[in-house]
Amino acid sequence: MTLQEKPTSRNIPLPIQREVRQRCGFGCVICGLPLYEYEHMLDWANVHRHRAEEITLLCDKHHREKTSGLLPSEAVSEANANPYNLREGVSKPYNLHYTGSYCEVLIGSNVFITKDQGYGTVMIPVSIDETPLLAFILTDGHLLLNINLFDENNNPILMIKNNQLIYSVSPWDIQLVGRNLVIREASRKVLIDIVFEVPNKIVINRGRFLHNGVEILISPECALITNNKLLFKENNCSNCSGGIIIGHHFNESGAAVRVNNVPRYLGDRDEAIKWAKESIKEDFFT
Ligand SMILES: [Zn+2]
Repeated sequence: MTLQEKPTSRNIPLPIQREVRQRCGFGCVICGLPLYEYEHMLDWANVHRHRAEEITLLCDKHHREKTSGLLPSEAVSEANANPYNLREGVSKPYNLHYTGSYCEVLIGSNVFITKDQGYGTVMIPVSIDETPLLAFILTDGHLLLNINLFDENNNPILMIKNNQLIYSVSPWDIQLVGRNLVIREASRKVLIDIVFEVPNKIVINRGRFLHNGVEILISPECALITNNKLLFKENNCSNCSGGIIIGHHFNESGAAVRVNNVPRYLGDRDEAIKWAKESIKEDFFT
């Protein structure tokens, strides 16, 4: 339990916010929506304190219902004891508003741009062993973002399927603040930091793409395959159906860079990061 009995303001201290997010499954306890507010279950005027166990998460709709008296406090307490996302094991799907006939992906200083060329245009900036970790599909004026992110043990952590965002509730912390989604595996250890620049752009400047023993480490300056010290910096890729394509793929055409024979689980990560730092003479991956 994290306790602060005499707060100087109504602002909830960050460690208490995190504890509440974890306990509530990173979403509204009633419906699971990943867009939420922190709600004191006891009347603030009476308690004047921030106790994690007395605070819950409610989406805008359910917060308004509670404030207007349409949602009883008992129903909120009941949901708080058994939050929607923890019951489901994943977050409630949320639809991202991507649209148009053009898209742009920025991954650690590398830019991938594609215009709809008809017949269901596809852009896959990163794919490992036939699994697209990141892809845009452009078809009939629709722009569909697809993302598959895994942890080191190949467990799915984040999935965006045709703009529909769902995440696992198992990581240490998940925050969707404005357009910025950050998933942390532990304190200070970022799995991914994504900015959804709707309607047509996505920016990833921090994080790790992991799959089948391959790691692509992202910093604002570059993307680095740590297994074999392959570094991608300031590349521009236009109207290319494939970007960084690692491992065996049935379709061998349309890749900016195709990397086969990556040593799996065997790369010296520390050595690769040291090498990358020396190579581009910049202080990153801090
Ligand atoms: Zn809700």
